[in-house]
Amino acid sequence: MARYRGAVCKLCRTEGEKLFLKGARCQTVKCAFERKGYPPGQQAKARRMKKLSDYGLQLREKQKIKRYYGLLETQFRGTFNRANQKKGITSENLLQMLESRLDNVVFRLGLAPSRNAARQLVRHRHFMVNDHLVDIPSYQLKPGDVIQVREKNRKMEIIHNTMRKIKEGSQLPWLSLDKANLKGKFLEVPNRADIPVTFNENLVVELYSK
Ligand code: SF4
Repeated sequence: MARYRGAVCKLCRTEGEKLFLKGARCQTVKCAFERKGYPPGQQAKARRMKKLSDYGLQLREKQKIKRYYGLLETQFRGTFNRANQKKGITSENLLQMLESRLDNVVFRLGLAPSRNAARQLVRHRHFMVNDHLVDIPSYQLKPGDVIQVREKNRKMEIIHNTMRKIKEGSQLPWLSLDKANLKGKFLEVPNRADIPVTFNENLVVELYSK
């Protein structure tokens, strides 16, 4: 599946916000956004100085969310369309669907240092869901699903390095982690209030409703 292959730190600088795309590095002084918190390129800098139109604000918010979860336009639009067809509030459905992706949950559980790494680990067949191998990063988890590192991949350094940094009790309320067995549970679809992002997802609905 296609994915963005450019410099990810540029994406944070373009959006004017840390999107945490590089794992542990994002929390250090090496973070490019901390050192150069302005958009890359002279023209982008000039554009940033201008006041954004409503359309501009909607577009930027959509780009930010899409990039944060590591999706390309077609994948993001597809998720939005499915969120729109579901009962309930479309903007909330959208975030819930993005958070219920297997790659996102692997990252949130602390089994991978970033969503990109989680996506790669899932694609390389390192995870089981309810004892079945799943290698689809966009796989939608359901409440009660158990995610586990495959037996033969339990010694992988990348997983153990990330797990070591996890503090006790730091899990989100809709996830539980069994550190010793490299196993996590997706307890429930999260409420908006329990999703730790500050995006204004309503702007995405406004943009796609035009
Ligand atoms: Fe963004 Fe992380 Fe790069 Fe900082 S280190 S600019 S948060 S991807």
